[in-house]
Amino acid sequence: MAPELKPGKIFLNSVNTMLTQTAELLDLDTRFPQQHLLERIIIPDRIISFRISLQRDDGSIDVLTAYRVQNNNFRGPYKGGIRWHSSVDLDEVRALAALMTVKTAVVGVPLGGSKGGVVLPQGTRYSKPERERLARKYVNGLVNDVGPKKDIPAPDVNTNSQVMAWMADQYSRFTGETITAAFTGKPLIMGGSQGRTEATGFGSIMVLKRHAIKNDIELRGKTMAVQGFGNVGSHAALKATRDEGIKVTHVSNETGCITNPEGLDIPKLIEWITKEGQKGLLSFPGGKVTPDNIFTVDVDILLPAALENSVKAEYVKDIKASLILEGANGPLTSEADELANKAGITVLPDVLVNAGGVTVSYFEMVQNENQDRWSLQYVLERLQGIMFDAYDRIYDNAKKYKCSLRKAAILSALNDIAVACDMRGVQ
Ligand code: NAD
Repeated sequence: MAPELKPGKIFLNSVNTMLTQTAELLDLDTRFPQQHLLERIIIPDRIISFRISLQRDDGSIDVLTAYRVQNNNFRGPYKGGIRWHSSVDLDEVRALAALMTVKTAVVGVPLGGSKGGVVLPQGTRYSKPERERLARKYVNGLVNDVGPKKDIPAPDVNTNSQVMAWMADQYSRFTGETITAAFTGKPLIMGGSQGRTEATGFGSIMVLKRHAIKNDIELRGKTMAVQGFGNVGSHAALKATRDEGIKVTHVSNETGCITNPEGLDIPKLIEWITKEGQKGLLSFPGGKVTPDNIFTVDVDILLPAALENSVKAEYVKDIKASLILEGANGPLTSEADELANKAGITVLPDVLVNAGGVTVSYFEMVQNENQDRWSLQYVLERLQGIMFDAYDRIYDNAKKYKCSLRKAAILSALNDIAVACDMRGVQ
Protein backbone atom coordinates (compact mmCIF):
# COMPACT_ATOMS: atom_id res chain seq x y z
CA MET A 1 0.00 0.00 0.00
CA ALA A 2 1.31 3.47 -0.91
CA PRO A 3 2.33 5.49 2.15
CA GLU A 4 -0.23 8.11 3.18
CA LEU A 5 0.76 11.62 2.08
CA LYS A 6 1.26 14.28 4.76
CA PRO A 7 -1.16 17.24 4.63
CA GLY A 8 1.63 19.63 3.54
CA LYS A 9 2.51 17.37 0.58
CA ILE A 10 -1.17 17.09 -0.43
CA PHE A 11 -1.42 20.89 -0.32
CA LEU A 12 1.77 21.40 -2.35
CA ASN A 13 0.68 18.81 -4.93
CA SER A 14 -2.67 20.50 -5.38
CA VAL A 15 -1.11 23.97 -5.79
CA ASN A 16 1.39 22.65 -8.33
CA THR A 17 -1.30 20.73 -10.21
CA MET A 18 -3.45 23.85 -10.43
CA LEU A 19 -0.49 25.91 -11.70
CA THR A 20 0.39 23.24 -14.28
CA GLN A 21 -3.17 22.87 -15.57
CA THR A 22 -3.56 26.63 -15.85
CA ALA A 23 -0.22 27.01 -17.66
CA GLU A 24 -1.58 24.60 -20.29
CA LEU A 25 -4.56 26.90 -20.89
CA LEU A 26 -2.14 29.81 -21.37
CA ASP A 27 -0.05 27.80 -23.81
CA LEU A 28 3.15 29.04 -22.18
CA ASP A 29 5.39 26.50 -23.92
CA THR A 30 4.33 27.70 -27.38
CA ARG A 31 4.44 31.38 -26.54
CA PHE A 32 7.81 31.19 -24.81
CA PRO A 33 9.55 28.17 -26.40
CA GLN A 34 12.27 26.45 -24.38
CA GLN A 35 11.94 29.00 -21.57
CA HIS A 36 10.62 26.45 -19.03
CA LEU A 37 8.61 29.25 -17.44
CA LEU A 38 6.36 26.99 -15.40
CA GLU A 39 9.32 25.19 -13.79
CA ARG A 40 10.90 28.56 -13.03
CA ILE A 41 7.74 29.55 -11.20
CA ILE A 42 7.05 26.23 -9.44
CA ILE A 43 10.60 25.62 -8.18
CA PRO A 44 11.26 28.24 -5.48
CA ASP A 45 14.17 30.63 -5.88
CA ARG A 46 15.47 29.77 -2.42
CA ILE A 47 14.59 27.58 0.52
CA ILE A 48 16.04 28.66 3.86
CA SER A 49 15.81 26.30 6.80
CA PHE A 50 17.38 26.81 10.20
CA ARG A 51 17.27 25.70 13.81
CA ILE A 52 15.98 27.87 16.63
CA SER A 53 16.98 27.00 20.18
CA LEU A 54 14.28 28.62 22.26
CA GLN A 55 14.81 29.11 25.95
CA ARG A 56 11.61 28.45 27.90
CA ASP A 57 10.70 30.40 31.02
CA ASP A 58 11.73 27.45 33.21
CA GLY A 59 15.23 27.45 31.69
CA SER A 60 14.73 24.38 29.47
CA ILE A 61 15.30 24.61 25.72
CA ASP A 62 12.95 23.76 22.84
CA VAL A 63 14.68 22.95 19.56
CA LEU A 64 12.52 24.22 16.69
CA THR A 65 12.77 24.11 12.90
CA ALA A 66 12.19 27.38 11.05
CA TYR A 67 11.69 28.04 7.33
CA ARG A 68 11.56 30.86 4.85
CA VAL A 69 10.75 29.97 1.25
CA GLN A 70 11.40 32.72 -1.32
CA ASN A 71 9.31 31.53 -4.20
CA ASN A 72 9.58 34.20 -6.86
CA ASN A 73 10.57 37.87 -7.23
CA PHE A 74 10.08 38.47 -10.98
CA ARG A 75 7.47 41.17 -10.29
CA GLY A 76 8.99 42.68 -7.13
CA PRO A 77 10.54 41.82 -3.74
CA TYR A 78 9.40 38.64 -2.01
CA LYS A 79 6.39 39.10 0.27
CA GLY A 80 4.69 36.67 2.61
CA GLY A 81 3.51 35.94 6.13
CA ILE A 82 5.01 33.91 8.95
CA ARG A 83 3.06 31.03 10.46
CA TRP A 84 3.74 29.49 13.87
CA HIS A 85 1.93 26.19 14.14
CA SER A 86 2.50 22.51 14.86
CA SER A 87 1.30 21.59 11.35
CA VAL A 88 4.00 23.66 9.59
CA ASP A 89 6.32 21.68 7.33
CA LEU A 90 8.48 22.56 4.33
CA ASP A 91 5.87 21.44 1.79
CA GLU A 92 3.21 23.59 3.41
CA VAL A 93 5.50 26.64 3.42
CA ARG A 94 6.41 25.99 -0.25
CA ALA A 95 2.74 25.79 -1.22
CA LEU A 96 1.89 28.97 0.68
CA ALA A 97 4.87 30.80 -0.88
CA ALA A 98 3.72 29.82 -4.39
CA LEU A 99 0.21 31.06 -3.58
CA MET A 100 1.71 34.39 -2.48
CA THR A 101 3.46 34.77 -5.85
CA VAL A 102 0.12 34.24 -7.55
CA LYS A 103 -1.80 36.44 -5.10
CA THR A 104 0.38 39.54 -5.46
CA ALA A 105 -0.03 39.23 -9.24
CA VAL A 106 -3.81 38.72 -8.97
CA VAL A 107 -4.19 42.12 -7.29
CA GLY A 108 -1.38 43.66 -9.33
CA VAL A 109 0.80 44.92 -6.47
CA PRO A 110 4.52 45.09 -7.41
CA LEU A 111 5.67 42.27 -5.13
CA GLY A 112 6.64 38.62 -5.42
CA GLY A 113 5.89 35.70 -3.15
CA SER A 114 7.43 34.04 -0.09
CA LYS A 115 6.30 32.45 3.17
CA GLY A 116 7.80 31.59 6.52
CA GLY A 117 7.01 29.19 9.27
CA VAL A 118 8.16 27.75 12.57
CA VAL A 119 7.16 24.23 13.59
CA LEU A 120 5.80 24.46 17.13
CA PRO A 121 5.61 21.46 19.45
CA GLN A 122 2.05 20.07 19.45
CA GLY A 123 -0.06 21.39 22.31
CA THR A 124 2.53 23.86 23.65
CA ARG A 125 1.39 27.36 24.55
CA TYR A 126 4.25 29.84 24.74
CA SER A 127 4.14 32.71 27.23
CA LYS A 128 4.55 36.29 26.02
CA PRO A 129 8.31 36.40 26.87
CA GLU A 130 8.78 33.06 25.07
CA ARG A 131 6.96 34.39 22.00
CA GLU A 132 9.17 37.47 22.02
CA ARG A 133 12.32 35.35 22.17
CA LEU A 134 11.01 33.21 19.31
CA ALA A 135 10.26 36.29 17.17
CA ARG A 136 13.74 37.71 17.73
CA LYS A 137 15.48 34.38 17.04
CA TYR A 138 13.54 34.01 13.80
CA VAL A 139 14.90 37.38 12.64
CA ASN A 140 18.43 36.46 13.75
CA GLY A 141 18.28 33.52 11.35
CA LEU A 142 17.17 35.66 8.42
CA VAL A 143 18.74 39.04 8.94
CA ASN A 144 20.60 39.01 5.61
CA ASP A 145 17.63 37.65 3.67
CA VAL A 146 14.82 40.05 4.59
CA GLY A 147 14.44 43.79 4.06
CA PRO A 148 12.17 46.19 2.17
CA LYS A 149 13.92 45.56 -1.15
CA LYS A 150 14.43 41.83 -0.54
CA ASP A 151 11.70 40.02 1.36
CA ILE A 152 9.02 41.55 3.57
CA PRO A 153 7.38 39.29 6.18
CA ALA A 154 3.89 39.82 7.67
CA PRO A 155 1.58 38.05 10.15
CA ASP A 156 -0.19 34.76 9.45
CA VAL A 157 -1.62 32.02 11.67
CA ASN A 158 -0.57 32.57 15.32
CA THR A 159 1.47 35.68 14.60
CA ASN A 160 0.13 39.23 14.93
CA SER A 161 1.12 42.90 15.09
CA GLN A 162 2.95 42.38 18.41
CA VAL A 163 5.10 39.68 16.81
CA MET A 164 5.84 42.02 13.89
CA ALA A 165 6.82 44.76 16.38
CA TRP A 166 9.40 42.46 18.01
CA MET A 167 10.69 41.35 14.63
CA ALA A 168 10.97 44.91 13.27
CA ASP A 169 12.80 45.94 16.44
CA GLN A 170 15.23 43.03 16.19
CA TYR A 171 15.92 43.81 12.53
CA SER A 172 16.66 47.45 13.44
CA ARG A 173 19.11 46.31 16.12
CA PHE A 174 21.10 44.45 13.46
CA THR A 175 20.98 47.11 10.78
CA GLY A 176 21.43 50.09 13.10
CA GLU A 177 18.62 51.88 11.27
CA THR A 178 14.85 52.01 11.75
CA ILE A 179 13.70 50.44 8.50
CA THR A 180 9.95 50.33 9.00
CA ALA A 181 9.08 48.90 5.57
CA ALA A 182 10.97 45.65 6.33
CA PHE A 183 7.89 44.13 8.05
CA THR A 184 4.20 44.80 7.54
CA GLY A 185 1.25 44.23 9.82
CA LYS A 186 3.06 46.29 12.48
CA PRO A 187 1.19 48.14 15.25
CA LEU A 188 -0.04 51.59 14.15
CA ILE A 189 2.31 53.27 16.60
CA MET A 190 5.33 51.67 14.86
CA GLY A 191 4.41 52.55 11.27
CA GLY A 192 1.60 50.08 10.74
CA SER A 193 -1.21 51.01 8.39
CA GLN A 194 -4.76 51.84 9.29
CA GLY A 195 -6.92 48.96 8.13
CA ARG A 196 -4.17 46.28 7.97
CA THR A 197 -5.62 44.18 10.79
CA GLU A 198 -9.06 43.99 9.20
CA ALA A 199 -7.84 44.04 5.56
CA THR A 200 -8.02 40.32 4.79
CA GLY A 201 -11.45 39.73 6.32
CA PHE A 202 -12.91 42.97 4.98
CA GLY A 203 -11.33 42.36 1.55
CA SER A 204 -13.01 38.95 1.35
CA ILE A 205 -16.44 40.54 1.84
CA MET A 206 -15.58 43.19 -0.79
CA VAL A 207 -14.99 40.33 -3.26
CA LEU A 208 -18.27 38.72 -2.23
CA LYS A 209 -20.06 42.04 -2.74
CA ARG A 210 -18.59 42.50 -6.22
CA HIS A 211 -19.57 38.93 -7.09
CA ALA A 212 -23.11 39.66 -5.92
CA ILE A 213 -23.31 42.86 -7.99
CA LYS A 214 -22.01 41.16 -11.14
CA ASN A 215 -24.32 38.18 -10.77
CA ASP A 216 -27.40 39.99 -9.52
CA ILE A 217 -27.41 38.27 -6.12
CA GLU A 218 -29.10 39.89 -3.10
CA LEU A 219 -26.79 39.43 -0.08
CA ARG A 220 -29.12 40.94 2.53
CA GLY A 221 -30.75 38.13 4.53
CA LYS A 222 -28.37 35.43 3.28
CA THR A 223 -26.93 33.08 5.92
CA MET A 224 -23.25 32.28 6.44
CA ALA A 225 -21.14 29.77 8.40
CA VAL A 226 -17.60 30.77 9.38
CA GLN A 227 -14.86 28.23 10.14
CA GLY A 228 -12.02 29.86 12.13
CA PHE A 229 -12.67 32.98 14.18
CA GLY A 230 -9.19 34.52 14.20
CA ASN A 231 -8.09 37.57 12.27
CA VAL A 232 -9.68 36.67 8.93
CA GLY A 233 -12.88 34.94 10.10
CA SER A 234 -13.82 37.52 12.73
CA HIS A 235 -13.30 40.56 10.49
CA ALA A 236 -15.10 38.94 7.56
CA ALA A 237 -18.02 38.04 9.82
CA LEU A 238 -18.12 41.60 11.16
CA LYS A 239 -18.27 43.23 7.73
CA ALA A 240 -20.70 40.63 6.37
CA THR A 241 -23.21 41.27 9.16
CA ARG A 242 -22.64 45.00 9.65
CA ASP A 243 -22.38 46.19 6.03
CA GLU A 244 -24.11 43.53 3.93
CA GLY A 245 -26.95 42.39 6.19
CA ILE A 246 -25.79 38.75 6.14
CA LYS A 247 -26.73 36.53 9.10
CA VAL A 248 -23.81 34.49 10.51
CA THR A 249 -25.58 31.50 12.05
CA HIS A 250 -22.54 29.23 12.75
CA VAL A 251 -18.97 29.87 13.88
CA SER A 252 -16.37 27.19 14.60
CA ASN A 253 -12.76 27.02 15.69
CA GLU A 254 -10.51 24.17 16.79
CA THR A 255 -12.54 23.73 19.99
CA GLY A 256 -15.91 23.16 18.27
CA CYS A 257 -18.89 24.94 16.74
CA ILE A 258 -21.62 27.28 18.02
CA THR A 259 -24.89 28.31 16.39
CA ASN A 260 -27.72 30.79 16.68
CA PRO A 261 -30.42 30.45 13.98
CA GLU A 262 -31.33 34.15 14.47
CA GLY A 263 -27.75 35.14 13.69
CA LEU A 264 -24.83 35.38 16.14
CA ASP A 265 -24.10 38.84 17.54
CA ILE A 266 -20.67 39.21 15.93
CA PRO A 267 -19.42 42.37 17.73
CA LYS A 268 -20.30 40.69 21.05
CA LEU A 269 -18.60 37.46 19.98
CA ILE A 270 -15.44 39.37 19.00
CA GLU A 271 -15.46 41.10 22.39
CA TRP A 272 -15.93 37.73 24.10
CA ILE A 273 -13.08 36.00 22.21
CA THR A 274 -10.78 38.97 22.79
CA LYS A 275 -11.37 38.52 26.52
CA GLU A 276 -11.61 34.72 26.78
CA GLY A 277 -9.33 33.60 23.94
CA GLN A 278 -10.23 30.96 21.32
CA LYS A 279 -10.92 28.41 24.07
CA GLY A 280 -13.91 30.57 25.12
CA LEU A 281 -15.91 30.08 21.90
CA LEU A 282 -18.09 27.27 23.23
CA SER A 283 -19.07 29.22 26.34
CA PHE A 284 -20.27 32.30 24.40
CA PRO A 285 -23.63 33.17 26.02
CA GLY A 286 -25.20 34.19 22.68
CA GLY A 287 -24.80 30.80 20.99
CA LYS A 288 -25.54 27.12 21.47
CA VAL A 289 -22.89 24.41 21.08
CA THR A 290 -23.61 22.08 18.16
CA PRO A 291 -21.88 18.88 17.05
CA ASP A 292 -22.60 19.79 13.39
CA ASN A 293 -19.88 19.73 10.76
CA ILE A 294 -19.65 23.45 9.93
CA PHE A 295 -19.26 22.70 6.21
CA THR A 296 -22.54 20.84 5.84
CA VAL A 297 -24.87 23.07 7.86
CA ASP A 298 -27.84 24.66 6.12
CA VAL A 299 -26.54 28.08 5.05
CA ASP A 300 -26.15 30.01 1.78
CA ILE A 301 -22.46 30.87 2.12
CA LEU A 302 -19.49 29.03 3.66
CA LEU A 303 -16.42 30.94 4.76
CA PRO A 304 -13.52 28.63 5.63
CA ALA A 305 -11.01 30.88 7.44
CA ALA A 306 -8.77 28.44 9.34
CA LEU A 307 -6.25 26.10 7.72
CA GLU A 308 -5.70 24.37 4.37
CA ASN A 309 -7.31 21.03 3.38
CA SER A 310 -10.23 21.67 5.76
CA VAL A 311 -13.00 20.98 3.24
CA LYS A 312 -12.56 17.33 2.27
CA ALA A 313 -13.95 15.63 -0.84
CA GLU A 314 -16.30 13.48 1.23
CA TYR A 315 -18.09 16.57 2.62
CA VAL A 316 -19.04 17.98 -0.76
CA LYS A 317 -22.13 15.83 -1.39
CA ASP A 318 -23.61 17.15 1.88
CA ILE A 319 -22.76 20.83 1.36
CA LYS A 320 -25.96 22.90 1.25
CA ALA A 321 -24.32 26.28 0.57
CA SER A 322 -24.27 27.52 -3.02
CA LEU A 323 -21.14 29.61 -2.53
CA ILE A 324 -17.78 29.10 -0.79
CA LEU A 325 -15.68 32.15 0.00
CA GLU A 326 -12.10 30.99 0.58
CA GLY A 327 -10.83 33.21 3.41
CA ALA A 328 -8.07 30.74 4.32
CA ASN A 329 -5.28 29.64 1.99
CA GLY A 330 -6.09 26.36 0.26
CA PRO A 331 -9.10 25.42 2.43
CA LEU A 332 -10.47 22.99 -0.19
CA THR A 333 -8.49 19.93 -1.19
CA SER A 334 -8.14 19.74 -4.98
CA GLU A 335 -10.64 16.83 -5.07
CA ALA A 336 -13.14 18.84 -3.04
CA ASP A 337 -12.63 21.78 -5.38
CA GLU A 338 -13.29 19.63 -8.44
CA LEU A 339 -16.39 18.06 -6.89
CA ALA A 340 -17.72 21.44 -5.76
CA ASN A 341 -17.35 22.76 -9.32
CA LYS A 342 -19.17 19.72 -10.69
CA ALA A 343 -21.93 20.19 -8.11
CA GLY A 344 -22.44 23.77 -9.28
CA ILE A 345 -21.15 25.33 -6.05
CA THR A 346 -19.44 28.65 -6.78
CA VAL A 347 -15.98 28.83 -5.22
CA LEU A 348 -14.51 32.31 -4.89
CA PRO A 349 -10.78 31.44 -4.73
CA ASP A 350 -8.25 32.19 -1.98
CA VAL A 351 -5.74 33.96 -4.25
CA LEU A 352 -8.36 36.64 -4.83
CA VAL A 353 -10.55 36.48 -1.72
CA ASN A 354 -7.80 36.82 0.90
CA ALA A 355 -5.53 39.15 -1.11
CA GLY A 356 -6.76 42.18 0.86
CA GLY A 357 -4.09 41.51 3.49
CA VAL A 358 -1.15 41.71 1.12
CA THR A 359 -2.74 44.70 -0.63
CA VAL A 360 -2.85 46.74 2.59
CA SER A 361 0.62 45.43 3.48
CA TYR A 362 1.72 47.01 0.22
CA PHE A 363 -0.06 50.26 1.25
CA GLU A 364 1.84 50.04 4.55
CA MET A 365 5.17 49.82 2.71
CA VAL A 366 4.27 52.76 0.47
CA GLN A 367 3.37 54.86 3.54
CA ASN A 368 6.58 53.81 5.34
CA GLU A 369 8.83 54.61 2.37
CA ASN A 370 7.16 58.05 2.01
CA GLN A 371 6.92 58.78 5.76
CA ASP A 372 3.19 59.16 5.14
CA ARG A 373 -0.03 58.26 7.02
CA TRP A 374 -3.28 57.43 5.24
CA SER A 375 -6.71 57.57 6.88
CA LEU A 376 -8.74 54.40 7.44
CA GLN A 377 -11.35 55.62 4.99
CA TYR A 378 -8.72 56.19 2.28
CA VAL A 379 -7.15 52.76 2.87
CA LEU A 380 -10.51 50.97 2.67
CA GLU A 381 -11.59 52.89 -0.43
CA ARG A 382 -8.35 52.05 -2.23
CA LEU A 383 -8.60 48.45 -1.06
CA GLN A 384 -12.13 48.15 -2.40
CA GLY A 385 -11.06 49.63 -5.75
CA ILE A 386 -8.29 47.03 -6.08
CA MET A 387 -10.46 44.09 -4.98
CA PHE A 388 -13.29 45.09 -7.34
CA ASP A 389 -10.88 45.55 -10.30
CA ALA A 390 -9.22 42.19 -9.60
CA TYR A 391 -12.63 40.48 -9.41
CA ASP A 392 -13.72 42.06 -12.70
CA ARG A 393 -10.55 40.92 -14.50
CA ILE A 394 -11.03 37.39 -13.22
CA TYR A 395 -14.74 37.35 -14.02
CA ASP A 396 -13.96 38.39 -17.62
CA ASN A 397 -11.23 35.74 -17.90
CA ALA A 398 -13.56 33.04 -16.57
CA LYS A 399 -16.04 33.93 -19.31
CA LYS A 400 -13.35 34.14 -22.02
CA TYR A 401 -11.68 30.82 -21.15
CA LYS A 402 -14.91 29.14 -19.95
CA CYS A 403 -13.22 28.08 -16.73
CA SER A 404 -13.66 28.33 -12.95
CA LEU A 405 -12.91 31.59 -11.15
CA ARG A 406 -9.89 29.89 -9.54
CA LYS A 407 -8.38 28.96 -12.89
CA ALA A 408 -9.23 32.42 -14.23
CA ALA A 409 -7.42 34.07 -11.30
CA ILE A 410 -4.32 31.92 -11.64
CA LEU A 411 -4.38 32.40 -15.37
CA SER A 412 -4.14 36.18 -15.28
CA ALA A 413 -1.47 36.02 -12.55
CA LEU A 414 0.63 33.37 -14.29
CA ASN A 415 0.54 35.34 -17.49
CA ASP A 416 1.94 38.46 -15.78
CA ILE A 417 4.61 36.46 -13.93
CA ALA A 418 5.63 34.70 -17.14
CA VAL A 419 5.89 37.94 -19.10
CA ALA A 420 7.98 39.53 -16.32
CA CYS A 421 10.22 36.48 -16.28
CA ASP A 422 10.67 36.58 -20.06
CA MET A 423 11.46 40.32 -19.99
CA ARG A 424 14.04 39.91 -17.22
CA GLY A 425 15.87 37.24 -19.21
CA VAL A 426 17.55 34.14 -17.89
CA GLN A 427 17.96 34.33 -14.13
P1 NAD B 1 -5.53 33.22 13.17
O1 NAD B 1 -4.46 32.49 13.88
O2 NAD B 1 -5.83 34.62 13.56
O3 NAD B 1 -6.92 32.39 13.29
C1 NAD B 1 -7.02 31.06 12.92
C2 NAD B 1 -8.38 30.56 13.38
O4 NAD B 1 -8.56 29.22 12.90
C3 NAD B 1 -8.57 30.50 14.89
O5 NAD B 1 -9.91 30.82 15.20
C4 NAD B 1 -8.33 29.04 15.21
O6 NAD B 1 -8.97 28.63 16.39
C5 NAD B 1 -8.96 28.40 13.99
N1 NAD B 1 -8.53 27.02 13.76
C6 NAD B 1 -7.28 26.50 13.83
N2 NAD B 1 -7.32 25.18 13.58
C7 NAD B 1 -8.62 24.87 13.35
C8 NAD B 1 -9.30 23.69 13.05
N3 NAD B 1 -8.65 22.54 12.91
N4 NAD B 1 -10.65 23.74 12.88
C9 NAD B 1 -11.32 24.90 13.01
N5 NAD B 1 -10.72 26.06 13.29
C10 NAD B 1 -9.39 26.05 13.46
O7 NAD B 1 -5.19 33.10 11.62
P2 NAD B 1 -5.66 34.06 10.44
O8 NAD B 1 -4.64 35.11 10.25
O9 NAD B 1 -7.07 34.41 10.62
O10 NAD B 1 -5.49 33.07 9.18
C11 NAD B 1 -6.50 32.15 8.81
C12 NAD B 1 -6.26 31.70 7.38
O11 NAD B 1 -6.25 32.86 6.51
C13 NAD B 1 -4.93 31.00 7.11
O12 NAD B 1 -5.11 30.06 6.08
C14 NAD B 1 -4.04 32.13 6.62
O13 NAD B 1 -2.94 31.67 5.85
C15 NAD B 1 -5.03 32.90 5.78
N6 NAD B 1 -4.65 34.28 5.51
C16 NAD B 1 -4.45 35.16 6.53
C17 NAD B 1 -4.11 36.48 6.23
C18 NAD B 1 -3.96 37.53 7.29
O14 NAD B 1 -3.83 38.73 6.94
N7 NAD B 1 -4.00 37.19 8.57
C19 NAD B 1 -3.94 36.88 4.89
C20 NAD B 1 -4.16 35.95 3.88
C21 NAD B 1 -4.52 34.66 4.21
